[in-house]
Amino acid sequence: MIPPSYTKAEASGIWVFLEQESGRLEGVALELLGRGRQLANEAETLLSGVLLGSDVEAAAQVALAAGADRVIVAEHPALAVYTTDAYTKVVGEIVVERRPDIFLLGATPNGRDLAGRLAVRLRTGLTADCTGLELEAETGLLLGRVTGFGGGVVAIIKCPEHRPQMATVRPGIFAPPELTAKPWGLIERVPVRLSRHEIRTEVVERALHEGLDLTKAERIVAGGRGTHGDFGPLRELAALIGAEVGATRVAVDEGWIERERQIGQTGYVTRPKLAVVCGVSGAMHFTVGVEAAECVVAINSDEEAPIFEQADYVIVDDLFSVLPSLIKQVRALESG
Ligand SMILES: Cc1cc2nc3c(=O)[nH]c(=O)nc-3n(C[C@H](O)[C@H](O)[C@H](O)COP(=O)(O)OP(=O)(O)OC[C@H]3O[C@@H](n4cnc5c(N)ncnc54)[C@H](O)[C@@H]3O)c2cc1C
Repeated sequence: MIPPSYTKAEASGIWVFLEQESGRLEGVALELLGRGRQLANEAETLLSGVLLGSDVEAAAQVALAAGADRVIVAEHPALAVYTTDAYTKVVGEIVVERRPDIFLLGATPNGRDLAGRLAVRLRTGLTADCTGLELEAETGLLLGRVTGFGGGVVAIIKCPEHRPQMATVRPGIFAPPELTAKPWGLIERVPVRLSRHEIRTEVVERALHEGLDLTKAERIVAGGRGTHGDFGPLRELAALIGAEVGATRVAVDEGWIERERQIGQTGYVTRPKLAVVCGVSGAMHFTVGVEAAECVVAINSDEEAPIFEQADYVIVDDLFSVLPSLIKQVRALESG
């Protein structure tokens, strides 16, 4: 067995990587602070955030308000924008010096990049793309829930020997915590030793994509193969009730709708207040993306469709007759 960077006995605390963009914490960083706080309370340990950037005082304050006991801040002009080399070096050194037991990162493009690189450097395991996190009752080990492996499998993965126990978690899985007006935690600044030759890449130009974000949608009208490519009535209902339109992978693969609207294991995990799901069978790969919805209304012509097991309201009928009458009723309600 490859020796770990530090031993189990030396490890303590739960850490969250606080990914930021232009000095603002990413949503998943807040979600992980929320879940991290619950786990830290359960394990009776401390919750720390690790924040890298160039001017991140305000973000550190938000992390404290979100429940961190400590925010470790590393500021340097070369950390303003994420680069694999600089972030791996700085976070890696902080981890080896301070030895967390658990280290959680968002499964964003940067979080995934950093986590894989760090896990190799720290000689530890990484549970990637978790859709759930628990602590094992008998041992206190982190249990990462991962769906997939090509079909219908839910795996619970743990890392018994090596430290830190690392996991990336998909955005939208956990609810962001309430921010407290009276934070109790502390900010700890660490010196950054970085020289130019350690960073092999230079960011020449950045293009920020301010597009659709299904993970933040409060209402979603989603369609699948049952739409037969006609998303017209779904779009109409969505526009009326202020919802975003989502879709199954089948609908995306058929070219009926943009990929950024795909919900599910290989799409987005959403947590809307309301999801109206039309012509969708309810495969696990899809339902993982709506299981945190507060209310699911499912419309399907097959009364045995598995989606009905997940639904709060069930409509067994052709979506092309249900949606027009729903739209009519919403309009009637609106006009008083
Ligand atoms: C590794 C892997 C990852 C995957 N990731 C995803 C993912 O992220 N997201 C995802 O969605 N899928 C994903 N899939 C695919 C997933 O397994 C299912 O195949 C897919 O979700 C099915 O899509 P669907 O419900 O649109 O189609 P179908 O399963 O074909 O269901 C269509 C439904 O429409 C109903 N219907 C038909 N006509 C009407 C009508 N007129 N009115 C009402 N109902 C009607 C039918 O009764 C049926 O239940 C993944 C698969 C794999 C192997």
